[in-house]
Amino acid sequence: MKAIGLLGGMSWESTAIYYRLLNEMARERMGGLHSAEILMRSFDFAPIAELQAKADWEAASHLLVEAARGLGAAGAQCLLIGTNTMHICAAEVEAAISIPLLHIADATASAIRQARCSSPLLLATRFTMEQDFYTGRLRKEHGIDVQLPEKDEREDVHRIIYVELCRGVIDPRSKQRYLEIIRNAEQRGADGVILGCTEIGLLISQQDTSLPVFDTTGLHARAAIDFALENDG
Ligand code: GLU
Repeated sequence: MKAIGLLGGMSWESTAIYYRLLNEMARERMGGLHSAEILMRSFDFAPIAELQAKADWEAASHLLVEAARGLGAAGAQCLLIGTNTMHICAAEVEAAISIPLLHIADATASAIRQARCSSPLLLATRFTMEQDFYTGRLRKEHGIDVQLPEKDEREDVHRIIYVELCRGVIDPRSKQRYLEIIRNAEQRGADGVILGCTEIGLLISQQDTSLPVFDTTGLHARAAIDFALENDG
């Protein structure tokens, strides 16, 4: 089994989910007392969120690059950036390390293609929905054109992530708002829903909608376990 490097803490609410899923999936695959080999660097999210708000991606990249190098030096054999948004720095991180970076959008794209969805709705932070690093990768590398929520809907999706989910607040009214946004997109032809922020699974799951749900946290963890156990019989 290879050791999985995880850049976490963005926010820790979702890193806790990664930690549980990676270990559960390792046990499922190997049985007995097996669990995943994980090296984690968990950031204090407040300074990272400040850099995001100032769009200081260079400083944010620098933090991630240093941490990723540290995990590589400590023995990690692949790297996960445990947040969709911070994949904005993926190219810089990938260039600075010698272990493979398992990109969250690639893991998500394979599931979308397998489900034969062609127009999934993307629910994510403003950065992930409105900049090109994520939707562009899905389009250019995987031929997937996502649908975005309307402007006022995007504002609510973003606000709920930072003001509630990243702080461990689960509000049923926010869940209703997300479901309303999903229904609106379905009427515009969406045929799936990408939970493109690693905390959204705290609020919405497959049970809440008839559209196929692509939870990036679980798909990313699955890709890591597949990589870690490849060639392990
Ligand atoms: N975890 C979130 C994501 O997947 C949002 C928090 C962050 O900005 O990293 O995008």
